[in-house]
Amino acid sequence: MQHKHRVIPIFMPMLACPHRCIYCNQYVISGQQKLPTEKEVLAQIDSYLSTMRDNVEKRIAFFGGSFTCLPLDVQNRYLDIVQPFLKESVVSGIQLSTRPDYINEDILYNLKNKGVTLIELGAQSLNDQILSYSERGHTVENVKNASKQILDFDILLGLQMMIGLPMDTKEKSMQTAQMIVDFGATYTRIYPTIVVKGTELAELYTKGQYKPLELKEAVDWCKELYLFFNNHNINILRMGLHPTKDLREGENLIAGPFHISFKELVLTSIWRDKIKDIIKKSNKKIIKIEVPKEEVNYAIGYNSANKREFPNVLFEIV
Ligand code: SF4
Repeated sequence: MQHKHRVIPIFMPMLACPHRCIYCNQYVISGQQKLPTEKEVLAQIDSYLSTMRDNVEKRIAFFGGSFTCLPLDVQNRYLDIVQPFLKESVVSGIQLSTRPDYINEDILYNLKNKGVTLIELGAQSLNDQILSYSERGHTVENVKNASKQILDFDILLGLQMMIGLPMDTKEKSMQTAQMIVDFGATYTRIYPTIVVKGTELAELYTKGQYKPLELKEAVDWCKELYLFFNNHNINILRMGLHPTKDLREGENLIAGPFHISFKELVLTSIWRDKIKDIIKKSNKKIIKIEVPKEEVNYAIGYNSANKREFPNVLFEIV
């Protein structure tokens, strides 16, 4: 079941992460990062609350880092800062993201007690060869076990995936999606792999040993994944990388399918297929297609691509 809620994001830097996945540039950017102070966390929450309606479900989300890699006292320092918002029912829960190999019963017991209602694991791929080559430092079995433990604590599960890692194929990415469903996730995020400076992937790319997906390919893979997850009632929280200033300005980006409106490109392509199908079955010169209000931008398409390609189609908002 799709479950809508609004999120108050608190960005945690990746300083805590003891790993080095081949695509991650935490060592390049960690020098510019520090953990937020209590004052900064509270200011962030106040600022988001001031723009949110009272009757909307809200959660505080610790994003960006591998939260449970932080020492327990640091985890609790942040969880305690946000307790008053939970106690006064200003927010309904806390969500966070972490690595599958930093989940155990003690960690979960603590998180559950502090009001954590959703844990997102960076699974990235559910293929052991891909995980190993990408130096993720965990296996598919770790993801499976951590997922089960999270669900046993009655905490919602999110499993994030990447597409286009070395050795990945469209077929393998669909297998990962199937396992995300099988492992009991309610949520997912899909991130295309890009090549950033200061990573092992950048070295492989320079030596011609890694080729990222073309943008068109990434859109095509995501189109299938989107339809698959929708059919299985998995809520896709994000498709495409967050367009940070660094990525927009391309300072550290070397190659790969980054686009500021990636999700829009995917949904434009899905609507393009739908429109073509309707046209094929119709004998009318002008075809009216009913479009839900929230889908209208995608039906018309990114940069009006579908509107331009199908001038005989009229979109009726319902
Ligand atoms: S788990 Fe990998 S991607 Fe995540 S912060 Fe650590 S090194 Fe980077």
